[in-house]
Amino acid sequence: MDNAQYSRILLKLSGEALAGEQQFGINPTAIGQFAKEIAEVAATGLQLALVIGGGNIFRGMAASAKGMDRAQGDYMGMLATVMNALAVQDALEKNGCDTRVMTALQMADVAEPYIRRRALRHMDKGRVVICAAGTGNPYFTTDSAAALRALELKCDAIFKATKVDGVYDKDPNIHDDAVKYETVSYMETLEKRLGVMDSTAISMARDNNLPIIVFNLYKDGNIRRAANGENIGTTVQG
Ligand code: UDP
Repeated sequence: MDNAQYSRILLKLSGEALAGEQQFGINPTAIGQFAKEIAEVAATGLQLALVIGGGNIFRGMAASAKGMDRAQGDYMGMLATVMNALAVQDALEKNGCDTRVMTALQMADVAEPYIRRRALRHMDKGRVVICAAGTGNPYFTTDSAAALRALELKCDAIFKATKVDGVYDKDPNIHDDAVKYETVSYMETLEKRLGVMDSTAISMARDNNLPIIVFNLYKDGNIRRAANGENIGTTVQG
């Protein structure tokens, strides 16, 4: 396998990827499917940091729409991402992959605190770093955490693994004539609200020229193909 194009990537996994068919909570079978592939990619020497979402368990914004204080709900959402991160760690280690969970909110009995230089050191030693608890701040999302971590950890790109094949001009689940972009600019993504990642994340990527590769997580081999630089989805850049 040749991933000369990349030496370090940030893989963003939404909470829904961990729920599988049940669409809520944590489904170890669903996690096992992509964990094997992540472990294989890590074994090639490509350095990997993961940012895990929490939407399969709790979202602050949804709770606030039903009357909960937004910040309170967001902290609950961040805690949800820690549960997900531990589940992903378990699955990766079952595939022989060395990992560390690092949390943006301190909970030292469960995982290490996120310290940038330690995260870099872990990756240099071949460990997959699983970043949990988002940015540690309410009013953000794990997409923003992915952009932040990708930049500070000097990743070559964000891999945004989703349930669709890439970025479309309209929702492919609703419109039969939706057209997939091979590449699309940050600006067009923002202006047309193409739903790649939230606007904070896209703006950070744009300001720092960080490419976002959007591809389908549910197609076997896609993480490996993306890591090899194959054009399997949509690249957001420029
Ligand atoms: N969250 C937060 N700050 C962060 C990251 C996440 O407050 O930096 C909270 C927020 O409530 C969010 C929830 O954690 O809704 C779960 O994260 P997200 O919705 O990004 O998960 P995903 O959609 O990727 O599953």
